[in-house]
Amino acid sequence: MNAPRIQPVKGMNDVLPTEIARWQWLELVAREILSAHAYDEMRVPIVEQTDLFKRAIGELTDVVEKEMYSFEDKGGERLTLRPEATAGMVRAMISNGMLRGARHKVWCTGPMFRHERPQKGRFRQFHQIDVEAVGFAGPDIDAELIALSASFWRRLGIDRVRLQINSLGSPESRFAYREVVTRYFRQHHAKLDVDSQRRLEGNPLRILDSKNPEMQAIIAGAPLLLEHLDQESRQHFADLRSLLDSLGITYEVNPYLVRGLDYYSRTVFEWITDVLGAQDAVCSGGRYDGLITQLGGETTPAIGFAMGVERAVALIEQAGSAPVAQTSDVYFVAQGEASTRVAMRVADELRRKSPRRRVELNLGGGNLKVQFRRADRSGAPLALVLGEDELGRGVVQLKPLRGGTGEPAEVKIEQAVSAVDHWLMVYSSKNS
Ligand code: ATP
Ligand code: MG
Repeated sequence: MNAPRIQPVKGMNDVLPTEIARWQWLELVAREILSAHAYDEMRVPIVEQTDLFKRAIGELTDVVEKEMYSFEDKGGERLTLRPEATAGMVRAMISNGMLRGARHKVWCTGPMFRHERPQKGRFRQFHQIDVEAVGFAGPDIDAELIALSASFWRRLGIDRVRLQINSLGSPESRFAYREVVTRYFRQHHAKLDVDSQRRLEGNPLRILDSKNPEMQAIIAGAPLLLEHLDQESRQHFADLRSLLDSLGITYEVNPYLVRGLDYYSRTVFEWITDVLGAQDAVCSGGRYDGLITQLGGETTPAIGFAMGVERAVALIEQAGSAPVAQTSDVYFVAQGEASTRVAMRVADELRRKSPRRRVELNLGGGNLKVQFRRADRSGAPLALVLGEDELGRGVVQLKPLRGGTGEPAEVKIEQAVSAVDHWLMVYSSKNS
């Protein structure tokens, strides 16, 4: 009897070979774009002290209140699987003494964890590409960073996305606005949902971010933060808009864009799409000038964004823009133990000569018919055949398969590597 199957963890996905081409393409494009803008990659732990996220993200947020994977480890430390990357990136820069007036443009990628209700486009383990510019007050960097995010879509062939921007002002102006908006929501107390009633005293701005349809009318009547900005933030926002205009980047000002996490100030932005249903945000970011001090670092302005990888991959799939998955270049058909031994050596030489080539060797035996069926399935345009007869004569056969053209040929085993190399070169020049 078989043992019962272990189930996957709810909301956590496997990325299969059939999907991987889109992921790898996104990662490749990300690396190129970020490097072209002089950003360097960093790698930070997936687990951090729970207090880091409480302090960075804010206690009265969905993420900290309901969504964190927190646990006590065997030494009694309170730890959390990171729900987002910015807090850990900033923590790492402080821990490693990287700030002290210095400026850094850095990025990272990897899994994030939130205990949400899993649904299309919303998972419990999901991935982000996270980009941070630390030590820059903007608005020039704000514009460059938004332009950088725009170039992702251009490079990935995705056009069903729109950019929304807003300004949250300085902490002081937000504090003043808070009084105004609290007064407004108090007047409508009875109509607020439970979450909003609870947030009213602690974090009223988050009410504006509510997705509850029944709240939308009350939210629409609320006074706008954008109309209560301090002079400097107003100027910062005007300058950002003018820079975006001159870069030819189209945007909408969305005065209700508040963003789920607490640490933002001034510039916030989000890329949304109309092709992924309810989970419409594919990339979100903003300025977080106060966060670094809040985490014990020296006062440093900063801005960043996070792109949701699963949602971006879904857009790539939708657009059908990813390059086709890599298939083999050569399939090596070998019959008998002695031939397989020689074939293994030749295959190894082929890979050394051209490390980018995908050389697949038939392993586990099989008659010719079976092996050629596998060769066909591998997608390779060329088969190499080394049977007992060939081995006896010291030769290998080159046989073009479906995709390949030309006549079969026979070459000495010692010449196999250069013959294959030449054949594939001619083949790729004809097919590019
Ligand atoms: P949403 O409004 O969809 O909950 P968010 O405001 O919580 O998003 P951020 O914390 O800003 O999202 O994260 C940045 C990006 O990460 C989002 O724009 C989205 O693309 C992606 N993302 C966030 N949560 C999830 C999730 N549970 N599953 C998949 N992707 C996610
Ligand atoms: Mg969320």
